[in-house]
Amino acid sequence: MKKEVFFEKEILKWFDQHGRKHLPWRKKNITAYEVWVSEIMLQQTQVSRVIEYYNRFVQKFPTIFDLAKASWEEFYPYYAGLGYYNRGRNMLQCAKVVVEKYKGFFPKNKQDLIDLPGIGEYTASAILSFAYNKNELAKDTNIKKVFGRYFAGGKSEKVDFESLEKQLIAPKKQLNAAIMDFASSICIKIPRCGECPLRKYCEYYQTDAKKEFIQKKTKEVFPTRDASVVVTLHKNHKEYYSVNKKNYKPFVLSSKYNTRESIKEYFQSKYGLTLAVRPPHKKYYQNGKPVMDVNAQILMGENKFFVYPKTKIV
Ligand code: SF4
Repeated sequence: MKKEVFFEKEILKWFDQHGRKHLPWRKKNITAYEVWVSEIMLQQTQVSRVIEYYNRFVQKFPTIFDLAKASWEEFYPYYAGLGYYNRGRNMLQCAKVVVEKYKGFFPKNKQDLIDLPGIGEYTASAILSFAYNKNELAKDTNIKKVFGRYFAGGKSEKVDFESLEKQLIAPKKQLNAAIMDFASSICIKIPRCGECPLRKYCEYYQTDAKKEFIQKKTKEVFPTRDASVVVTLHKNHKEYYSVNKKNYKPFVLSSKYNTRESIKEYFQSKYGLTLAVRPPHKKYYQNGKPVMDVNAQILMGENKFFVYPKTKIV
C-alpha cells in the first residue's frame, strides 16, 4: 500500500474513534463566518478557552451583518481576554469589508480571502475547506509537523505539499480536522509513537536513532491513550464538587478525555465551566484497566454540583 493511502486511511480511522467532534465549530453545515470566528480565536489561544468565547460571540453576533454593525465598545466585551487586540480590530474591519464589498458572503477565492484584514494563507484555506468544501489543505504548524515527520523524517521543509495535496484523495475538510486533532494528542512535541497508527510508514519513526529512543520510551510508557480519568474537582482542596448528592464521587471520564485539554473541553461544553487542570498525579491499573487521577479547579462559570467539605471525602 502506498504510504499516502495508508496515511489517510489510518488517520481518518483514528479521527472517527478519537476526533473532537463535540467542538462547536465542527458542526455540519458550518458557515464561512463561523469558521472565520473560530479560526481567528484559535490563533494562539487554547481550544478549551476558545469554546466559551466562541459560543458567547456567535450568540451575540450570529451573522456577519450583526458584527459589521457593532462598534468597538460593543465588540470588545466579547473579545476581551483573548489578547492580541490588533486581531480584534481586524475582525471588526474584516466584517465591514465582507458586508460592503461581498454583500456579507466571504469570497470563495483564496487570494480575495487573503486580501481581507487579518486573514492569512492558513485561515483562508480553513474557510475554503471547512465552509466551502474545497480541496484545500489548511497548512498550519500542526499539519506541517505531522507531514514533516511522516513523509520526511521530521524535515517539514522537504515536504512537497502541492503534490501531496493532489495525492491525498480523502475530503480535505475531514483530513484537516483529523490532522489537527491528531497533532494535538498523538503527534505532539514528544510524539506518542508507541500508540500511533501511522508508525508503520512514518519516516520519523523509521529512523534508527528515533526508533531506539522511542522503543526505550514506550517500554516504560503507561498506556495513557487507553486510560480513563478520575477528576477531583475542588476549590483550594477545601471544597470538593460531586454530581452525587448522597455520597461524594469524583468525575470519571472515558479514555476519550485523557488529556488536560480534553478534560477542559469536556467541562466547558457539558457544564459551561472553565477549569484549571493539573497534570495526572497518579497512574495505575484498576481491574486491569489503566486509570489516571487528576485534580482540577473551577476558574469561571457557575458551580452546578454538590459541595463537600474536605472532612466528608477523606
Ligand atoms: Fe508522529 Fe510518531 Fe506517529 Fe510518526 S509515528 S506520525 S512521529 S506520532
